Amino acid sequence: MIDLHSDTIYSLWRDGHGSLISNSLSIDKDSLERGGVTGQCFALFTPMHDLVPAAHRGESPWEILNALHERFISETEKAAIPLMRHVRDLDGGVHAILTTEEGGAIEGDISRLSILRSWGVRIFGLTWNWENELGYPNSRDPDAMRKGLKEKGIEAVRECGRLGMIVDVSHLSDGGFMDVARYAEGPFIATHSNARSVTDVPRNLTDDELRMLADNGGIAGLNLCPAFLRDGASADDADAVSAISDMVRHTMHIYRTAGEDALAIGTDFDGISGKLEIPSPDRLYLLRDALCRSGIAQSVLDKMWEGNAKRVLSFAEEEV
Ligand SMILES: [Zn+2]
Repeated sequence: MIDLHSDTIYSLWRDGHGSLISNSLSIDKDSLERGGVTGQCFALFTPMHDLVPAAHRGESPWEILNALHERFISETEKAAIPLMRHVRDLDGGVHAILTTEEGGAIEGDISRLSILRSWGVRIFGLTWNWENELGYPNSRDPDAMRKGLKEKGIEAVRECGRLGMIVDVSHLSDGGFMDVARYAEGPFIATHSNARSVTDVPRNLTDDELRMLADNGGIAGLNLCPAFLRDGASADDADAVSAISDMVRHTMHIYRTAGEDALAIGTDFDGISGKLEIPSPDRLYLLRDALCRSGIAQSVLDKMWEGNAKRVLSFAEEEV
């Protein structure tokens, strides 16, 4: 099982307590092992603007990203979770896959992408929900949603291709998505986004986008956030339900629209709130059981659980 997105490292860093060995979050070493997770993506999410914790005001985004990276190293070392350098590493138990979210962290300096690559970063997210030097985020405003990548965003996409990092379009504007499709060398992915025609929020992908993703060999990780699974659920409502039945609806739609090679999982654990029917990696078998009962073949579920993500990560390796 490979999970394409979690905010666990950011949550540990922001809240200052707990570790990957033991915490009150969704992901810790035990739940990864019990859940049969071979590759857990840990996003270094760089907070900007009003999300910067008071203790870190005055630090630059790049400094904050470096602090998050140091925390990632110390947490994974303490928990003895090795960093995935090659896809074949995943055959040997739980590995951490390093990713970043919020491309503003590089402050428009494209040469910093090679530093990220040297850390072992495999997936680079262009934006979070703010405009940055690279592009514009998803938006309910149609004009904002049409905005494409900035010049530096196009440069970043090309540089990721050169370095063997996969571009992540989750959080990006629709115009930005189209530019990634135009300029990416090889597959690009949405680590944690669902289907917009099932739940109409701008964080989800249109049917055209799902098909374009698949046509380029990419994947969409199923996000367990209630607001992206069900109409009317608010992202910060603690009572909103993340229901397995809704996960099945989205998965079936993505399967029918983009095919079995586009399916993947990107839980967004430790970045989402609500009543989670799947609260931790060791319960993902409940989703698998439900999808099986809905008629998806085990061979397809094997792809969704691990095979497709391995295929995409392997492509990035060839580029190094
Ligand atoms: Zn996110």
